[in-house]
Amino acid sequence: MPTEHNNYCNGEWVASESGETFAVTNPAAETEVVGQLQYSTENDAKWAVEAAADAQQAWADTPGPERGQILRKAGSIASERKAELVETLVAEEGKTHSEASGEVQRSIDILFYYAEKARDHGGSIKPASSAGAEIRAKTEPVGVAGLITPWNYPSAIPAWKLAPALATGNTAVLKPASQAPLSAKKLVECLDEAGLPDGVVNFVTGSGSTIGGVLAAHEDIDAISFTGSASTGDVVYQDAAADQKRVQLEMGGKNPTVVMPSADLDEAVDIVGVGAFGTTGQSCTATSRAIVHEAVHDEFLDRMVEYAETLDIGPGRADPDMGPHVSESELEVTQEYVDVARAEGATLETGGETLDGGVHESGHFVEPTVFSDVVSEMRIAQEEVFGPVLSVIEVGDFEEAVAVANDTDYGLSASIVSEDAEEINTFVDQVESGVVKINEKTTGLELHVPFGGMKGSSNELYREQGDAGLEFYTTTKTVYANR
Ligand code: NAP
Repeated sequence: MPTEHNNYCNGEWVASESGETFAVTNPAAETEVVGQLQYSTENDAKWAVEAAADAQQAWADTPGPERGQILRKAGSIASERKAELVETLVAEEGKTHSEASGEVQRSIDILFYYAEKARDHGGSIKPASSAGAEIRAKTEPVGVAGLITPWNYPSAIPAWKLAPALATGNTAVLKPASQAPLSAKKLVECLDEAGLPDGVVNFVTGSGSTIGGVLAAHEDIDAISFTGSASTGDVVYQDAAADQKRVQLEMGGKNPTVVMPSADLDEAVDIVGVGAFGTTGQSCTATSRAIVHEAVHDEFLDRMVEYAETLDIGPGRADPDMGPHVSESELEVTQEYVDVARAEGATLETGGETLDGGVHESGHFVEPTVFSDVVSEMRIAQEEVFGPVLSVIEVGDFEEAVAVANDTDYGLSASIVSEDAEEINTFVDQVESGVVKINEKTTGLELHVPFGGMKGSSNELYREQGDAGLEFYTTTKTVYANR
């Protein structure tokens, strides 16, 4: 019998009032139930918000170094429990063991990083115009944060929202994605074990529109940080706008890598291959368009196809090159896009088929897929696929490459492979993207620098991670003090 996992409300692990649970299954073996999670009601979510609101002032009054000490201890506990956290992530999301291990380590590092920020964060003092006076810019928590997270980084994204929120004195209600909620629960367990006071973090699982809807609309929630699809982001924004909450939306991408004639083609193929097929293409920053100069297009395409065909695909526990899609429905969406691309006139160079039999028997496996003859107007070049599907677009010169890179509603991550300094600098200046990488894959982020998208990838009010991650969760009170 799979373990039943409760919500966490006001320091207690509690079942939903619904009495119902839902199953989380292994994407590599659909018959394996990883856990049963609470199918929570609106009331469950409201009780969690009330607990967070009741706990907020005391947590804000707790000295920053003390808050940091709890985050540090939670990081140490997560580190001791790392093998279990990695296994959970592999089992519920389907990542390869290496990918999951990297992600869990990132969550641990985030807890340690914001533990130090909690000690450091405060405000500043400036001189005033009159003698004997001073002005203090005092930093205060926003209040209660509602955190809504996606399934594709089920550990790191909850960590990079929770840690800065708590470090700065906010309390939080976390609603993880239903597809992979257990990694987030494990983080909450670590915070609980570390001695976080009751009500500071609350964790509620269940339907996105029910639980997420309560968080976005509840008057006691002061800030909503959402990561997920653009369509859900729109709904969250509308719900939260009713009482003018602070809202952070980080959403999808259609990320390009431009390959120029001066590029080392072996390096370019590796960069695009890892960016496109790593995490089964299920990263918001995954490379979905290779925009390749005509002088190197044919050779690049040949090598890219060869690269895709050598990848080993299987269950994450065996640590292959690429794991399964997270769910049957995500696999179906990828299949639909393969059909759409072919109907639009793109050439399927390799892949596009689901994998059955043997280790692939009961999982959501698909071949890494490369399309050529893609032009910017096609849906396959415009819409986020969120699977291991790469479109290769041939261009005649650098200006056209930049124009194609920018010809999308999204603007999350973009990269260029080139040895030409002028091209590189112009690309950095002209590309419409929140993350720009030079001779690097579009995926992969560092935790101490800002992260966020432009255009349809973000509402662009705040960035996450690094110091920027603290800004979203704080407000400034300006104190004019006459001594
Ligand atoms: P999603 O379907 O939009 O779901 C995201 C979260 O929103 C889940 O927790 C979901 O709950 C919840 N939700 C669903 N309907 C809601 C509603 N009406 N109100 C409030 N919350 C609601 O996204 P996903 O499929 O989990 O994640 C994949 C997407 O996330 C991709 O588009 C990807 O590019 C994007 N992403 C962006 C970033 C970034 O930093 N820019 C990072 C990672 C992923 P349920 O799971 O219960 O439905």
